[in-house]
Amino acid sequence: MRWRRFPHPETKPRGPQTWPVFLPFAGCPHRCVFCGQDRQTGQGVRPLEQMHAALQRDLEQEEQRRPRRSLELALFGGTFTALPAPWPERFLELAARHRATGLIRRVRCSTRPDTVAPDRLAALRDMGLDVVELGIQSFNDQALLASGRGYTAAQALQGCRNVREAGLDLGVQLMPGLPGDLPGIFQNDVEQTVRLAPQGVRLYPCVVIDKTPLAQTWQKGGYRPWSLTRTRQELALALGALFRACIPILRVGLHPEPALLDALLDGPWHPALGQMVRSLALFDHVRTMALPLGDGPKLLRYPQRFSGEIMGHRAELRRCWQRAGVTLRSWRGRDFIVFHP
Ligand code: SF4
Repeated sequence: MRWRRFPHPETKPRGPQTWPVFLPFAGCPHRCVFCGQDRQTGQGVRPLEQMHAALQRDLEQEEQRRPRRSLELALFGGTFTALPAPWPERFLELAARHRATGLIRRVRCSTRPDTVAPDRLAALRDMGLDVVELGIQSFNDQALLASGRGYTAAQALQGCRNVREAGLDLGVQLMPGLPGDLPGIFQNDVEQTVRLAPQGVRLYPCVVIDKTPLAQTWQKGGYRPWSLTRTRQELALALGALFRACIPILRVGLHPEPALLDALLDGPWHPALGQMVRSLALFDHVRTMALPLGDGPKLLRYPQRFSGEIMGHRAELRRCWQRAGVTLRSWRGRDFIVFHP
């Protein structure tokens, strides 16, 4: 009997639990055609003063309630590095006060790749910023232009380099299925991302949100989002590449905020998209690992805790395993073992 033993292929993110704080559209030079940050995050647009005060209150309460907790503060939803003065400084000063008490261990922000000049990053790093996630969306000039992002692929790449050269951790956000998309663009974006070796990646397939410019284009027939089937296949390929490169996948698909669901007009959104895609990517990985064992039926022993991932959403992969001639047996071990009897 021949067999191969291997671990789960996904590299999990390290570090403390994330405390996300959303600052919708804060610092953004314009509203991008697809963006509905307020509905995506369920947070209305409020003055920065109010958001800062709310965060201050929440952090103080958390410190009293759970004094041993250690968190990563994540400032999302806008263009943090382009916030007007003195707001980046004020948010980072607040984080620094709670870093001194142990509540905050790291600070992350999301921003655009054309707002990360080296001197700005150096200043923010010196004030306590640790991680910069760049909303790259695509490294393709055509998709960037058609989406009205306002920067080029070269600027997107330079933004990534600037983050790295400032000594900060880099996160990359990609948006497959943008206006201007053509077959192959997303997989090229994934390859480029793998070359950059960021510390994490988020994949948000483009959807149509009410009251955005993209919704108007969609209503006139000028934009068609990816189907859910295509999205699953393309994202599974992407996850395979990220698995092989040991790059953590921080998120797949938008969070199921009630406000988002009310405003969602079209597009490949599904509450279990992440699970569907991880399952498909794991299915592909197991079949690849089994290839050297030759043709014929196989037996897969998989760790019990990955049962959901092996079977897929609502056991949708059960038939795929059958068709692939793989009999499934869970076990209490940590690794996957594929046998060729
Ligand atoms: S996509 Fe990013 S930069 Fe564009 S409006 Fe939304 S938050 Fe701002």
